[in-house]
Amino acid sequence: MIVKLGFSKPLAIAMHIAAFVPILVYGLHHIFNEVALLGWLLLANDLILVFSFHATLKDLDLDIYLKGFVMSMTVTIAVVCYYLGLRGVLFVFPLLTSYFYSFEYKTALLFSVIASAICMLAALNSIEPEMVARISVGVSLTIFFNASFSALLHKQNRSLQVEADQDFLTGISNRRSFNACLQREIAQANKDGRFLALFYIDLDDFKRINDNYGHTVGDEVLKQASQRLVNSVRSTDRMTSMDDEKSDIARYAGDEFALAVTHINSIDQVNKILDRILESLNKLYEIDNLVFKVGSSIGVAISGSDGQSAEELLKNADAAMFVAKSNVNKQYQFFNEDISNQIIVKQSIEKAIEDALEKEEFFLVFMPMYETNSLSICGVEVLLRSTNPILQKYGPDKFIPVAEQSGLIFDIDLWVIESVLKKIEEINQMGTGEKLLFCINISASELGNERIIDDIKKIFEKYTVAPEQVELEVTETSLINIDEKTIDILNQLKSYGFRLSLDDFGTGYTAFNQLASYPVDTLKVDRSFVNMIGNSSDSNSSMVNVVTLLASLYELEIVAEGVETQEQLNYLRAISCHYVQGYFLSKPVEWQHFLELLATNKTLLN
Ligand code: C2E
Ligand code: CA
Ligand code: CA
Repeated sequence: MIVKLGFSKPLAIAMHIAAFVPILVYGLHHIFNEVALLGWLLLANDLILVFSFHATLKDLDLDIYLKGFVMSMTVTIAVVCYYLGLRGVLFVFPLLTSYFYSFEYKTALLFSVIASAICMLAALNSIEPEMVARISVGVSLTIFFNASFSALLHKQNRSLQVEADQDFLTGISNRRSFNACLQREIAQANKDGRFLALFYIDLDDFKRINDNYGHTVGDEVLKQASQRLVNSVRSTDRMTSMDDEKSDIARYAGDEFALAVTHINSIDQVNKILDRILESLNKLYEIDNLVFKVGSSIGVAISGSDGQSAEELLKNADAAMFVAKSNVNKQYQFFNEDISNQIIVKQSIEKAIEDALEKEEFFLVFMPMYETNSLSICGVEVLLRSTNPILQKYGPDKFIPVAEQSGLIFDIDLWVIESVLKKIEEINQMGTGEKLLFCINISASELGNERIIDDIKKIFEKYTVAPEQVELEVTETSLINIDEKTIDILNQLKSYGFRLSLDDFGTGYTAFNQLASYPVDTLKVDRSFVNMIGNSSDSNSSMVNVVTLLASLYELEIVAEGVETQEQLNYLRAISCHYVQGYFLSKPVEWQHFLELLATNKTLLN
């Protein structure tokens, strides 16, 4: 308790001991010689001191000792006043101050008035009324000063608290205070048998606004969006039946907002709120003479059915928001069982990836790349596989995106690179691989990862492999939101010696003139365009044509992937596409099999 009042621990211990002994002596003296009741009360105080001493030694923060001590002191002092008159009343002053240290000021005020009244009444018995009146004035002034001082502190604390609970930019709640409030409101809603709706709102393509118009405009959009949200749930101009609705709105992160509305009675009510939110968010923004629209995606989760805790509800509303974001026709999505299953699947995949990394359950397969005319093997694309049953079931198409979202992809990519270097060293020593190009897929997330260059260099230091023998494939779509940092990472990879290729080319709608600014060597035409070759409509195959022309214009090499028929191969030969890959020529195979393929390919060609 004494520590709590601001003293250091050694001093607090000394004070406990110093107080304990005289109280004990004085208490025993009263029990045997004078007022027994007072003696027992003093011993009770000593007992509380023992507990408080223990708490101080063990650093326990037990408020109850503090309050217990103050309470028992009150009674003791009242009794002291009764027997000792004026001398006892003087004890009231420190007592009053200690009240204001240990209780909320309103409670302290109440206690002080009652305690002082009792003391004064007791004093009236033994001293002059005039003296009591004078002391009363002194006591009242003490109470008054303590109370106003304490109220002031209280107010200051509150405004500090408000600041800590607010988002500095928009003035609405921040994530921390929103979470606390949500937790309380869910518990209350569950208790009352009502529902709470959580809306998770994310502005679409906000990065573009920041990039195109600058951060000041970006900040203004966030401020206006938060104000629009506040207005869309404000209780005025609302039907009376919804008057008990309460809402809290927070900026949850960057351009993400969370809005919780309590007292939900029907889905209809949720839909109405949703309409109001969308209507206000979809209005045009007019900032600095600019007029533009900012889209948004909203995920909705309802307490009870979609989650019991704040954490669960937020996670589910966020997942629903993601689904809404990937749907171009709909701006909102209610959380449902499908999404719930997706989350479960995602979690199990994530766990399986962690296991696979730890237990070394990954391995590589190799997909030969052929020179289109001669069909000689000129390179190989490395693809990831796993013996882990879950990862096997879903395949890289499904588990790589999960690895990207969870950040596990960084470990995977480095593992793949190191494993490939081992193979390259092996094949180079056999004397068959020097001219082979090894193509490694790296995740788009690597383009935002500043450590990648150092990490890769460290791996290369362990092997005698030239970076020129490696081509890194990044998907074209990963460059859609390209910024200077990404270009810088690509340039660093390039100047280290790697070749770079744009994978799944044609799916990302890269502006042709942009190609010149990317430090890439190769375009890999997406399988879907190769698949179209041979379809009746003439325009279908034109994409491959266009890309091939484009590639020659920018002096890039071109690989067609996913060749599955002779007809496709013939077509690609006719338009002078440089390289081909696909099941028609070879499926991805294990290392030994690949070495055999390479040997037969050599003899066939000789
Ligand atoms: P991708 O880079 O576009 O790889 C080509 C995918 O198409 C491979 O699927 C391959 O087996 C398949 N494919 C190739 N030729 C044909 C064909 O003629 N017909 C058909 N139907 N399919 C063909 P896979 O191995 O399932 O890989 C899927 C994706 O997973 C890859 O697409 C790549 O984006 C990613 N991925 C695979 N391995 C790695 C890796 O080691 N690291 C990273 N970061 N991503 C990887
Ligand atoms: Ca690839
Ligand atoms: Ca591809």
